[in-house]
Formats: sequence, structure tokens, C-alpha cells
Amino acid sequence: MFVRADNICYTVSTMTKRGFQMECLNYPIYLKEGFEGLKDAFDAAGLAGGKVCVIADRNVAALYLDEVRDLLSAEAFVFAPGEESKNLNTISEIYEFFLKSRADRRTAAVALGGGVTGDMAGFAAATFMRGIPYVQVPTTLLSQVDSSVGGKTGVDFHGHKNMIGTFTQPAFVYINIKTLDTLPPEQFASGMGEVIKHGLIADVGYFNMLEREKAAIKNIEKNALLETVCGSCQIKASVVSVDEKERGLREILNFGHTFGHAIESLSRFTLLHGQCVALGITAASYLSYRRGSINEEELESIRQLLEFFDLPVKVNGYGAGDILAQMAFDKKSKGGSIRLVLLDAVGKAAPNQTASDGEILDAIKYITE
Ligand code: NAD
Repeated sequence: MFVRADNICYTVSTMTKRGFQMECLNYPIYLKEGFEGLKDAFDAAGLAGGKVCVIADRNVAALYLDEVRDLLSAEAFVFAPGEESKNLNTISEIYEFFLKSRADRRTAAVALGGGVTGDMAGFAAATFMRGIPYVQVPTTLLSQVDSSVGGKTGVDFHGHKNMIGTFTQPAFVYINIKTLDTLPPEQFASGMGEVIKHGLIADVGYFNMLEREKAAIKNIEKNALLETVCGSCQIKASVVSVDEKERGLREILNFGHTFGHAIESLSRFTLLHGQCVALGITAASYLSYRRGSINEEELESIRQLLEFFDLPVKVNGYGAGDILAQMAFDKKSKGGSIRLVLLDAVGKAAPNQTASDGEILDAIKYITE
């Protein structure tokens, strides 16, 4: 089974004027080149009149908090950046901030930042007073194309990523692509891992566009970025809207992640998520090639596109056996055997595939030797 985004295509001019609302989601995603439309989006969502509590990490706060706080007459909570903050202690501090701000059910929380901020602000909002509305204002490429859409919220717990959380949809998502101007290049590259994954699992036309426009995308040129972010949001939204709680189709979003998560754990999170996803995409594409689903030229084009965006397709320092053992451990802790998402073709995922240890080892060797 696979999803194509072609049937919900929007032109760039329509998007920039009005934001866009996808028929498959029950909340709008605005795609803009500034924060000016944020107040109108609040009004349109029926959130006018309530208090607004903005949550941001220190880096993002230094860049964008003043503007957003002034626009929304909001109060703000700022925390230390990074995955280390994504835990219940910070959530407890956010609850205290809500209490101090006299937040009530009409208060809206605003997640201004990357995926860490979005996951935490969403979780705090979903659980405070049994749920207050929240808004996603994603500022990393990864959060714009991936984590802000789909309603997964949560925190890490005792070393386990995203162990505690909810599925709670935001009132709306407001993407200001100008925020990508200040994003460090390695964070931009990390987001491109998910972007390329979206093309591979769901839309060959989108994948071809990424190849064609790659120089403009890397230069952060406006139209190419709008097309990239819009296309990725459409693909993610099409998938999560038919499988809100990850019971089926949503699994295809894990393409590259079974290999990737194992490498991420072994690296003790010194490699960025998108870098591990890129390695996982390379391994899973190689396995798809070995099964005859894609040809050598297509495999090479996938590798080249990842490399163009400064994403790794080879990794040193980890044994193939160690990566396989970590993959098996991850799966066991989730109560299953290793199942992979592979490709039936470029633009079409093949979910729920079994593979022998030998096949998996071959694919790991492809990215380690
Ligand atoms: P992040 O939120 O830590 O942001 C990365 C870094 O970029 C941070 O240092 C941040 O301060 C900085 N930053 C953010 N925006 C900036 C900007 N515009 N200019 C300059 N610096 C900026 O990380 P991330 O990569 O955005 O997200 C990763 C998190 O997302 C992980 O915790 C992951 O589990 C989660 N995630 C969630 C989902 C979901 O569906 N909810 C999906 C994928 C990932």
C-alpha cells in the first residue's frame, strides 16, 4: 500500500497567500514567509481572547521570541536547548509556568522551535487540566516537514526515547520558512533526511523535484523551499490522516529508521537523527536493490542525493554484527522480530517486510565497509 500526494496538489502562490488546509487533516497548516499571519491564524482557530503561553528553547528564544510574544501578547517559558531537556522535569517546570500564568482551558500553548519543543509543549498542553489547545510553530526543517504534523507528543524517560506521550492534534501548524535562514547547516541537512525519505516512500514526482531543485533547496531559495516543505507536509499528512495512532500505514514513515535507530543508539546520540536516517535509507535502499525492486542507477541516485545534502551514506567505527544486534534488541523490546520497510519502487514503500539476518548484514556492510 502506498500514498500519493498528487491528488492534493497546491500551487506555491495559493500557499503563500492563504496557508493551506489539507482535506485529510482537521486542522490547517499555514506556510508563510513571516510571523505576521500568526494573529489571524489564532483568530481563525477560535483561540482569540484566551491567554497565550509560548514555549521555546534558549536558541530559538534569542532569535524569534520577542516578535512572537509581542504579536500574541503572550507570556513565555524558555528552557535549555537539546534532547537532554526532553524529560518530565522540564514538563513539570512547564506546568508550574502554566500555573503561574493562571492558564485555564481557554489558554493556548505555542510550541516555538524544533521537534524537542514541539513534542514537549504538545505533551504539557495535552495533559495540563486534561488538555488545553496548542499550536505548532516549527522552526527546524525536521519539525516543519515531520514532527509538527501528526499529533505525536511526548518526552524521553529513563534513557528510552519518546517513552511517555500522547496522540494529540494541534489547533493549527504555522510554518514560517524564513526561520530556516538561521538554522545551522547540519540541522538543515538532518531535516533533508526525512524530506528525501518522504519522496522515496510515497511520491516519485516529489523525489524527482528534489533532484531537479537540489541546488536551490540547499541555497535556501524561497520557491524551492516552499515546494519542498509543502510536498513533505502533504505526504506526512496523507499518511497520518488514515492512521492517526500508528496501527498500520503510518509504519511506512519508518523507512530507514530500523537501521537508523540502531546506529543512533550505538552512537549514544552523538550522530544527528537525520544523519542516522540517511544511513538507514541507504541500507534499506540497498536491500531493496538486492531484491530487484529498484535498479543500480536508482540506488546510486538515492546515495548521490543524500550526499549532496551532506548526509552520510557510510559510517565508521561500528561493527556490522553490533548494528544487527542493536536492531534485534530494539525490536525485542517492542515485542517483535525485525520487520523492515523497504521499497517496491522509488516512490512506493513496501511495509512489513521480513529479511534474513544474512540479508540485513549485507545491507549493513554496504554502509559500514
Ligand atoms: P531540536 O528541537 O533540538 O532543534 C535542533 C537545534 O536547532 C536546537 O539546538 C535548536 O535550538 C535549534 N534551532 C531550532 N530552530 C532554529 C532556527 N530557526 N535557527 C537556529 N537554530 C534553531 O531538534 P529537531 O531536530 O527539530 O527535532 C528533534 C526532536 O523531534 C527529537 O526529540 C525527536 O524525537 C522529535 N521528533 C518528533 C516527531 C513527532 O512526530 N512528534 C517526529 C520526528 C522527530
